[in-house]
Amino acid sequence: KLSQRLQYIMEQIPAGSRLADIGSDHGLLPVAAVRSGRVPQAVAGEVNDGPLRAAQKQVAEAGLTDRIMVRKGDGLAVIKAHEVDVITIAGMGGALITSILEQGKDKLASVKQLVLQPNVGEDILRRWLMKQQWVLIDEHIMEEDGKIYEILTAVPASASDLKQDELYRPLRLPGSTLVLNRDWLMQLGPLLVNKPNEIFFRKWQLEIRKLQAVLAQVSRSELEAAQHKQEQLRKQIEQLEEVL
Ligand code: SAM
Repeated sequence: KLSQRLQYIMEQIPAGSRLADIGSDHGLLPVAAVRSGRVPQAVAGEVNDGPLRAAQKQVAEAGLTDRIMVRKGDGLAVIKAHEVDVITIAGMGGALITSILEQGKDKLASVKQLVLQPNVGEDILRRWLMKQQWVLIDEHIMEEDGKIYEILTAVPASASDLKQDELYRPLRLPGSTLVLNRDWLMQLGPLLVNKPNEIFFRKWQLEIRKLQAVLAQVSRSELEAAQHKQEQLRKQIEQLEEVL
């Protein structure tokens, strides 16, 4: 059975799409997506031999070798231009996902939807998406097995009614004087912040605690740079507390 995380990612793939799952590891996502009839065919990309073999095995056992092409290669190098409609990249850091997209930019022209699940560094990814004219149409935060995950779905700006400027328009929180600027929205997620759930609050409570631990460390230093960092951290914590 698919994890809730992979299940949500799968459900973000429009039915009938040709899929590429990059960094597929065990290939669970493309296998489930083809098996359920959601997608007719898929590419599973892997750069490392171990996971590549795991994916090959999974696909063979599912009897789907004619519909799922397991390919070895770095990032989007495994797909041809115009070969797929949707790309999923999950379970890596936001910086790595961003660099895979950046290096494979020429392959994105025909892509209609990206479904991305960064483990950390969501803000880096949101920044890249904005710069490259991808608009977020869905942000989901969930918890499974004690871990918190964010899943971001984006479409080309030309295919979206919502424009970047609207998505990242500074936001005044109800009952507060705090205005969330673009930097904050990149961190928190412009859609998540508009419909925060319990897990969203939990994630950022934990983040506050981490920042406070860093602050405690920095406070012991006499260096001037540390003083500046202290100020920054204090402000960050204060603002986060206000958001929550
Ligand atoms: N996507 C699966 C999931 O979410 O359950 C697997 C996530 S696994 C933690 C990350 C996988 O990405 C690993 O199997 C790793 O080999 C692969 N990977 C890392 N960098 C990659 C790259 N540049 N191109 C393709 N695969 C990559």
